[in-house]
Amino acid sequence: DAIGTIEIAGIVADIAAEMGAAAERGTVASYIPPLAQVPPEKFGIAVVMADGAVHVAGDADEAFSIQSISKVFSLTLALGAVGDQLWQRVGREPSGSAFNSIVQLESEQGIPRNPFINAGAIVVCDVLLGRSAPAEAIAQMVRFVRTLAGDEAGSIGIDEAVASAEQDTGFRNMALANYMRAFGNIRAPVERVLGVYFHFCALAMSCRELAMAGRYLMNGGRVGGHSVITANRARRINALMMSCGHYDNSGDFAFRVGLPGKSGVGGGILCVAPGIASIAVWSPGLNASGNSQLGTLALERLVQRTGWSVFEPR
Ligand code: GLN
Repeated sequence: DAIGTIEIAGIVADIAAEMGAAAERGTVASYIPPLAQVPPEKFGIAVVMADGAVHVAGDADEAFSIQSISKVFSLTLALGAVGDQLWQRVGREPSGSAFNSIVQLESEQGIPRNPFINAGAIVVCDVLLGRSAPAEAIAQMVRFVRTLAGDEAGSIGIDEAVASAEQDTGFRNMALANYMRAFGNIRAPVERVLGVYFHFCALAMSCRELAMAGRYLMNGGRVGGHSVITANRARRINALMMSCGHYDNSGDFAFRVGLPGKSGVGGGILCVAPGIASIAVWSPGLNASGNSQLGTLALERLVQRTGWSVFEPR
């Protein structure tokens, strides 16, 4: 590898310094108070290399609301639970619409376009509820993410203030779930499915923890000799992150960054350079599609300086 460890450490530090000075920071999500109160100056980055080296800068150890990034982990659990049957209930095409859009559900018979828009992730929660009660599904998710991140101290958890604010304001998500229920694509009671969905959105993690949790996606489904998911499924999750991970901005993210990535309205992005690195960035200001403005810029600079895009020759 032409890029040495020391060089990566320097690149990560430079990017954090540049983002600290950036003027155009986007707009912090305002739909719930716990997100609206997050200071827009925050920026963190963590890069976990395939050899285990970790490089962090900025606010990389501060927990934030991972929101829709949890859709990657819930998809992984659902594929483990029901395998490819999942694809009978959720598609694999980019939506070209906002994360919380309802329009395609009418013409497509209640089958969401992909597991990374809200409707698709709500179906994934319903699939997990086919096997367990809500409290168990939530506890299983917390255990799973802690294990992925190697979080033995159990510092990763659910921010209950975020979960209850999601519940209080989640009218569009309720509409999506009820609409899909009318097509038979939600089977458990809607309140239970959404309770699970809102708790998953409320997972709080730092960039360091998130990048650690994403290691299985850079390693063909394996972490430290242990198989989390098959290599085939890890590859497909990466493909979905590339094509659908940034909603109607997914094409632009592929154009600028060229790596599988999943964003959340808390301002985080989990990004995977297969075989090379698992990367997490966080800056709470969002662009018009609800993706982190500086998080995307930071990743764009990282791939420009490292050549890590999957579209560049190795
Ligand atoms: N909690 C948000 C919602 O369900 C998550 C959306 C996101 O991160 N894009 O609307």
